Amino acid sequence: MKRIATLIDNIGLLWTMSTGSEQQDAAAFAGREAMRQVGALENAAIAVDGDGYIAAIGKTREIRAMADADTHTVDVQGAFVCPGFVDPHTHLVHGGSREKELPLRLAGAGYLDILRAGGGIMKTVHDTRASDHATLLAKASASLRRMQSFGVTAVEAKTGYGLELEAERKQLAVANSLARTLPFTFVQTALPAHAIPSARLADRDQFIEEIVHMLPVLHSEGAEFADVFVEEGVFTTAEGRYILQAAKRTGMKLKLHADEMASCGGAELAAELGAVSADHLLTASDEGLWKMAQAGVVAVCLPGTSFYLQKRPARARFMMDEAGLAVAVASDYNPGSSPSENFGLTMTLALLTLGMSPEEVFVAATRNAAAAIDRAGELGVLRAGRRADLVIFDAPSPAYVLTHYGVSHVRSVYVKGQRVYG
Ligand SMILES: [Zn+2]
Repeated sequence: MKRIATLIDNIGLLWTMSTGSEQQDAAAFAGREAMRQVGALENAAIAVDGDGYIAAIGKTREIRAMADADTHTVDVQGAFVCPGFVDPHTHLVHGGSREKELPLRLAGAGYLDILRAGGGIMKTVHDTRASDHATLLAKASASLRRMQSFGVTAVEAKTGYGLELEAERKQLAVANSLARTLPFTFVQTALPAHAIPSARLADRDQFIEEIVHMLPVLHSEGAEFADVFVEEGVFTTAEGRYILQAAKRTGMKLKLHADEMASCGGAELAAELGAVSADHLLTASDEGLWKMAQAGVVAVCLPGTSFYLQKRPARARFMMDEAGLAVAVASDYNPGSSPSENFGLTMTLALLTLGMSPEEVFVAATRNAAAAIDRAGELGVLRAGRRADLVIFDAPSPAYVLTHYGVSHVRSVYVKGQRVYG
């Protein structure tokens, strides 16, 4: 047994998200019954070794006995503790903001009207291309600090506001800088297939070939995943298949922006290609969701986006109760359709608009969110041998954290056993 460097002591309620089995803990919880397991322990403590990994976890009295005179004890005074949150879908690195679009949208302007008025995704592409590395870095760092204040310790970050190689590489380089300097786990996704610039609609096939050629470069510079916005008016299912098959040949793992506005077979495509996750899914068909469950694709719901766009949310209850899917939640943090780093609000919206229970919401934000970025074996569960990434709350219960909404109840955040916030 390694020396105990830190003792997180006197935990009133601990949700470990663990079943106790190492093998089971390396996968998402799929379906309603599984997603209600939170691995609750009362009067608990966590012993952390000098490398920031959990040496032991259990009842306070047993764990305390492992400490020695040099152990640093953190008395959390009966607090609720859970694993650090994983945000598995963000557009973290981008330039500018898009608040001017909201009055237009509320006055009834559609997506194309806003695009014509100089807004929409191409406004962010323009602002991102025009921003230098330092500007993008400062903006994304500020966003990460906000995310951290809500308990987030791992983030997926997509490119997709470059739409040309150099600007896409710039987004990746910023995320790589953040990964080197800030206490987060980063997973990067290449999304050059996020939109088709209007000037490229005439040579659409050529643009798609350019995307295919960008992927190996972006992969070699840190993008582990490739993603495509498969949507009516953006990339067709056939184009998505073509791009993602190329990504797979390059050795990249797959994600999809699937069936957000119109049902166009995105969920089915994710299952067919063996994607790690399919995200949005507001209009996904029953059959598509069944197929995803069979293929082990994680369904990532983005309740902040459906809320901000005032759309009917994803059918999370059907996903869990009928299809038996593993459901995760993500912020979709981006300047157009989900401009908020408040992951607590994302979780509250999962409770209120997706109809998930507090237990399901916490599973979706930890263990299943880790599976959505292919980190189920490392993140989202507190058990011996795992990193001590955890959140300590000032709240009488987990349900209180979600229902007393819009503010942070996070007292402190630990990454690899070190306090990084609070
Ligand atoms: Zn997105």
